[in-house]
Amino acid sequence: MTSSGGWTSSSDNGNLSTELSALAKSPRLLLMLDFDGTISPIVPTPEEAEIDKEIENILTDLEKLPSTEIWIVSGRSLEDLKNKVHFKNLIGSHGIECPFSAEEKIDCDDISKLKNDIECLLKNYRGIQIEQKVYSVSIHYRNADAGDEESIRDIVKKNSGNFAITEGKKVIELRAKGKNKGDACQMLIDHAGCEASIYVGDDITDEDAFRALKEKSVTIKIGSGETDATYRLKCIDDLRLILKKLLEERSLL
Ligand SMILES: [Mg+2]
Repeated sequence: MTSSGGWTSSSDNGNLSTELSALAKSPRLLLMLDFDGTISPIVPTPEEAEIDKEIENILTDLEKLPSTEIWIVSGRSLEDLKNKVHFKNLIGSHGIECPFSAEEKIDCDDISKLKNDIECLLKNYRGIQIEQKVYSVSIHYRNADAGDEESIRDIVKKNSGNFAITEGKKVIELRAKGKNKGDACQMLIDHAGCEASIYVGDDITDEDAFRALKEKSVTIKIGSGETDATYRLKCIDDLRLILKKLLEERSLL
């Protein structure tokens, strides 16, 4: 496989270049992108995460083109996400906070109790950050001692109660059971009526979207690890080049 436009292709990436050109030419185009690790580099704590400025500029230019929608689909709460990006189209809490679905009735007291319980159980471990979101609790252990990682994961999983467990990159998320990114993106596509769409993500919760959108979207995973996405890019730098190509080609229409 050859390189195209500067981004590294592999045999996995078969027709990505051709698919991008087709997307660029479609009458209506929907771009769905995860935030952390996809359009913002992974950093030690969630608060430090910032959108990649060049990607932000490219997406902003794309959004100005006719019939082109940008949606950010994140595990962060909508409130949190609004402070991270200026785009108006947002889906938060892994799809639970989605403008096309009635929000699940979730008892916030349960989330607070879960957070307090986990905090108490992990109080003797260093470098843990526990983040309470609207519908979930995230336990970050990126800064914990490497030898403690397994016990931390065990404790969290054994005490997850009725919450869905999702493991990401040095984070375990306990999430109120309900909608996921796949359900939300499916609703979004139905609502937008776009015949062409692309979904890009880097982590376990994006796999729900990759699976749900397999037949109808161009799906791209950033980074290593097993995936149901059709294509894979090594890093955010490659995504930047892909989006630039999409912008250049769509601007010519
Ligand atoms: Mg991510």
